[in-house]
Amino acid sequence: MSQDFVALANEGVQALKPYEPGKPIEELERELGITDIIKLASNESPLGPSPKALRAAQEALLDLHRYPDGSGHRLKTALAKKLGVNSEQITLGNGSNDVLDLVARCWLKPGDELVFSQYAFAVYPIAALSCNAKPVVVPAKNYGHDLDAMLAAITDKTRIICIANPNNPTGTWLDANSLEAFLADVPSHILVVLDEAYFEYVEESDYPDGLAFLQQHPNVIVARTFSKMYGLSGLRVGYAISSPEIANVLNRVRHPFNCNSIALAAAEAALDDEEYVAENLRLNREGLVQVSQGLAELGLTVIPSVANFIAFDCGQEAAPVFNALLKEGVITRPLAGYQMPNHLRVSIGLPEENQRFLQALKKVLA
Ligand SMILES: *Cc1c(COP(=O)(O)O)cnc(C)c1O
Repeated sequence: MSQDFVALANEGVQALKPYEPGKPIEELERELGITDIIKLASNESPLGPSPKALRAAQEALLDLHRYPDGSGHRLKTALAKKLGVNSEQITLGNGSNDVLDLVARCWLKPGDELVFSQYAFAVYPIAALSCNAKPVVVPAKNYGHDLDAMLAAITDKTRIICIANPNNPTGTWLDANSLEAFLADVPSHILVVLDEAYFEYVEESDYPDGLAFLQQHPNVIVARTFSKMYGLSGLRVGYAISSPEIANVLNRVRHPFNCNSIALAAAEAALDDEEYVAENLRLNREGLVQVSQGLAELGLTVIPSVANFIAFDCGQEAAPVFNALLKEGVITRPLAGYQMPNHLRVSIGLPEENQRFLQALKKVLA
């Protein structure tokens, strides 16, 4: 008799389903018989990788027979200098997803609670359930985090609260005063992860830099990534900034070589490529206006976004719209998995890509 290994898995793991990534562009092109598909589905940089990062990655290839620097010394030093923190405050991750998982594994015992908002990032429940802990989902307010409701959701089992600012997939954000007031009310033994994957895109004057909270609130962990603004999604590099004590705990559990040598080299070079970041920021600023105006002209309601994507209401079930857009060669992101069955999320692309998306959508909705 073969064993039922699903039934033997941790209870939390039994409640999970494997993440279903979108099909690769090449496979879709073959299936649909078209050749010029544009992907606006994963909030990637439309610019391609930074030339500086590419060059550094190529050089690093020559040392592939060596293990990477397990401490990520050079990248941490560069980050520390750029961010004005000590390198002992930085923990490197295989993407910032890895950082979230590390935090969960260090502090969640079975039965503990991890609190996050409805419509928040899909990785939070995975992190909780894989530790047999309980994901506590707090209803959102206007698609954004309801901080008062999140405070009210705290129990004596709560260990971690995750806040994405801005949030994915909604693009909503919290201002400095709201977040400061919230942090002042969170008991100091509860860790607050500020997930700032889209930090570099936000230009609102009252948008907070999570690092500013670290001094007053040593229970804060800021998570950032090279996947979005720095255009290195494929290499998987993210990092946490926290107190040195918290970083020390995270580094006990972190796999010693969780960032590979190419990723370390490319991230260090990308950090230095100010031209790339400035261009990406400009493209995004203009693209947000182009796409949100275009959607409004089609009579659609958008959720105002400060990140590099926009979620909008199709005014009908989104799945057929998503499929029709695919046939037009445009990949977007359906949000049914986030309990938003009528919404699609579209990443900001190059101006001509945004235009093609808007034209395709107009045709599809006609
Ligand atoms: C994209 C994203 C991340 C980054 O994930 P990586 O693992 O660094 O690629 C983290 N948080 C949110 C909310 C995101 O949307």
